[in-house]
Amino acid sequence: MISPKPVADIEQLVRERIRAAVAYRQRFVHDTNAYRVVFSEGDFLPGLIVDRYNDMLSLQVLTQAMDSEAMRRIVVSELQETFQPRVIFERVDARVRKLEQLTDKDSGILFARKAEGFPQSGEPFPQPPEFNDQTTTEFQMNGVRFLYNALGGQKTGAFLDQRKNYAAAAQYARGEALDVFCYQGGFALHLARNCGKVTGVDSSRPALEAAEQNAALNRREIEWIEANAFDLLRDYSDAGQKYDAIVLDPPAFAKSKRDLPTALRGYKELNLRALKMLKPDGILVSCSCSYHVGNAELLDTVAAAAVDSHRIIRILENRGQAKDHPNVLGIPETSYLKCLILHVS
Ligand code: SAH
Repeated sequence: MISPKPVADIEQLVRERIRAAVAYRQRFVHDTNAYRVVFSEGDFLPGLIVDRYNDMLSLQVLTQAMDSEAMRRIVVSELQETFQPRVIFERVDARVRKLEQLTDKDSGILFARKAEGFPQSGEPFPQPPEFNDQTTTEFQMNGVRFLYNALGGQKTGAFLDQRKNYAAAAQYARGEALDVFCYQGGFALHLARNCGKVTGVDSSRPALEAAEQNAALNRREIEWIEANAFDLLRDYSDAGQKYDAIVLDPPAFAKSKRDLPTALRGYKELNLRALKMLKPDGILVSCSCSYHVGNAELLDTVAAAAVDSHRIIRILENRGQAKDHPNVLGIPETSYLKCLILHVS
């Protein structure tokens, strides 16, 4: 739903909503040139996601109404005027497009600023990989630098929703840290500021390669391990390996309500292993991005793991998604990310 009343001029309305979304970020988002500019229902533009990565914008369309060419033109033109970006990309989520009965489509370039070596308007754009120079940029958050590859990676590239949680976690962590499900190193790179040794674990080799490039960019030495997190945590905890800080940021285990019991078992297992491996006075950062797992359910699960591992947990922070992913009261679907920062004794 875009309006409870008939809309006379949809172009006008969409442009106003984009402008309002931009103004909201100008007011509430700081310390970064990468953030979500439009968050679908959270900005009253259902099915439209726009992320900014420095001089690039990445757009994702997830509903029939937003998928029309006319709507895409309006959105692109408004974004162009507001940001004067170097490139605007569309990233396609094939799974959602299928669910929403949208026609198949490839990820690609919607707009590129005219520059040396760039095709002139009206000419077809070369397709990646020849387009590599135009598909990469660098952004920063909380003073940490990241490379961005518009057509690689998961989601729209980085997990911008965790931005403030990285900084929060980094305040408490020290000593030896383990970042489990590290992707391109978001938590690990932030923890490296205060931790003597940081290890990142992920099952995706491309993600770890990007993580290593990010580490080099920030002149950090981080150990990256390609492994299944469940196997690694089991082996390490059985071997008596200990850490001062552990981050758990798994992918959404509950993609639908049906998956809830299995998902909760997954979270319990991870948290139990992590709790066994934490030294006294350790820090556990336990996240869930499953909408179907509520804050209370995650807390209950971690509490059950604490009982099983005979640990005492104090809640330092009970956090959610960053403010560029607005959580609208009355639209519960706009709230999905949980990030618990816990003291473990
Ligand atoms: N913490 C990251 C985001 C994690 S997204 C950040 O802040 O940027 C979830 C990650 O889990 C993905 O990178 C995915 O490759 C990885 N993953 C999924 N299943 C896994 C498994 N069984 N073992 C290890 N990593 C896994």
